[in-house]
Amino acid sequence: MGIKKGILKDLTQKELQEICSRYKLKGFSGLKQSELMQFVCENLEAPQEEIQSIVNTLREDKLVNKISDSADYFLTKQIHILYGDKAFIKANVGGYEVKIENLGKENFNYSCDEKCQDWIYQVKKGRYPFCKHYPAVLAQLIFEEQINVDEVRPNYIEGKVLSALISLVEKRKKEEGLIFPTGRQIEERSKNIEEDLLKISMQDQILARDKYHEVAEMAFETLVGDAFQLIEFETIPKRKTIGWDLLILGSLASPPFIGVVECKTAADGVHEQVLRNPNYLQRLKEYCIDLKEKKLVGTLSNYLKYMVIVAPGFPLEVTSLCGPFSQMSAGIKLSFFPVKSLVKLVRTFRDNPIITHSMIERVLWRGSIITEEDIDILLRGASDHISDLLGKCRKVLREKMQGVLHRITDSSFIKLDSVLFQDMLKAVLAELEPDIVRSGKKEAVGVETISIMHDYYNIWRPVLEGLVEEFICILKSESEQRVKRTELKEEILRLLELG
Ligand SMILES: [Zn+2]
Repeated sequence: MGIKKGILKDLTQKELQEICSRYKLKGFSGLKQSELMQFVCENLEAPQEEIQSIVNTLREDKLVNKISDSADYFLTKQIHILYGDKAFIKANVGGYEVKIENLGKENFNYSCDEKCQDWIYQVKKGRYPFCKHYPAVLAQLIFEEQINVDEVRPNYIEGKVLSALISLVEKRKKEEGLIFPTGRQIEERSKNIEEDLLKISMQDQILARDKYHEVAEMAFETLVGDAFQLIEFETIPKRKTIGWDLLILGSLASPPFIGVVECKTAADGVHEQVLRNPNYLQRLKEYCIDLKEKKLVGTLSNYLKYMVIVAPGFPLEVTSLCGPFSQMSAGIKLSFFPVKSLVKLVRTFRDNPIITHSMIERVLWRGSIITEEDIDILLRGASDHISDLLGKCRKVLREKMQGVLHRITDSSFIKLDSVLFQDMLKAVLAELEPDIVRSGKKEAVGVETISIMHDYYNIWRPVLEGLVEEFICILKSESEQRVKRTELKEEILRLLELG
C-alpha cells in the first residue's frame, strides 16, 4: 500500500478523481486531495504496473499541456532568438530569458528566467523537466528551420509531447497560410466531431484523456473550434485562461461578422448555471463589451454582433435571456447552440457545402436556441437560394445573347468582339455577387479584380452546369432556325453571278 502512495504523490485532486471514475470507485466526491489519496490507496484494486502506466500518462499529459501553454507566446510571435547555434541558444520569450546549452546532446542543460515560477518551484525541484518557456523556444527554432524535429527528441521531447510540439508549429504555419489541411485531416476531424463532440460535452473525462490528452473542458473547446472551421469559419482560440473561449469569423459573409463563443460542458446536458446565475450572463456581456469597445476598433467593432453558447443542451426557458442580453450589450444577439445541432450543421455542410455564412448569420440574428430543425430549414433555404441564383444568371445570359443575335449576319457563327464578351461575362458574374463572387479594384493600379469563393464549390457546380445548359439551348435554337446564309456562301454566290 505504501508503494501505491509513492506513485500517486504528485497527482492533483482532479487527477485522483479521474482515476476514481476510471475504476468506477464510489464515494469519492467531496474528498480533499490528501483524503482522496488515502481513499484511492484503500479502495483501488489494480496491478501496480497498470497504475504506474496511468500515472505516466498523466505526467506526459502535463508536459503536453506545457506545450499548449507555450502557444501563448509562439502563436502571438513573442519569441526572439537572440543567439543561436547548437552549443548555445539564448532567447527572449515574452520577457523571459531562456538559455539552452548543447541541444540534442547528453550534456544538455537549460535554464529559464529567475522570475519564472514554474522554473523555480517545479523544474529546479525536479518535479517536471521543463517550464512552458522551453518548448516555446524549440517551436520557434523549428518554425524558423534552424533545427529539425529530431534534434529536440533527446531532451524530454518525445512521444505525445513531440507530436504536440509538431502540431503547434503546424498550427502557426496554417495560421500564416504556409500549409493547408489535407482532405484526410478534414475527414478525421469531421469523424471526431460526429463521434465524440456530444460525449466530450457531457464530460466524458476518460475519452477526453485517452484520445485528446486533455480534460474534457479543454478538449471540448478544441473540438468546437474544429467544428466551426469545418463550416469554413475562421477561428481564434483564446490565449488566456480567463475570458471568452473562441472567436468565430464569418469572413465569407458580406459584410463579415464576428461571434464570441462560450463552450460549456455539463454532465446532465442542462444548464442550471445559465438560468439561475445572473452573474453568468453579466460575465459574458463583459467579454463582448470589452472586445467591442476596447480591443476591436472602427469597422471591426461593428462586425462583432453575436454571442453563442455551445453546450450539450438547453432548457427552453433560456430563450427568455436573449432579449435582455441584447439590451445590456449594445445589441449583441445571444444564441444557444446545442451540440447535436452543431454536429448536424457540420455533417450537413460537409455532405454538401451550400449553406453560406450569410445564411448562418440569419439564424444567429434571430437570437434563440438553434434546433436540429433549423439546420434542415437552412439546407432547404440553401437549395432554393441556388435555384434563384441560377435562374437570375440564365436570364441575364439569355438577354445578353439575344441582344447579340439580333445583329449577326452569318448563320454558322455567333460573332462577338471581346468587349461584348466581357460585358456578358460581367453581367452574369454580377448576379453571383456577393454570394460566391466578390469584385473589387487593385488599389494601386485601378485594375478590376474578381474574387471567386472556392469554399462554396458546391454552389458553383449547379450554377455553372445550369449556365452551360442555357448556353447550349441558345446555340441549339439558333442552329435550328438558321435562315441566313453564311458569309462564305454569299461570297461564292456573288462571284458566280459576276461570272
Ligand atoms: Zn520558464
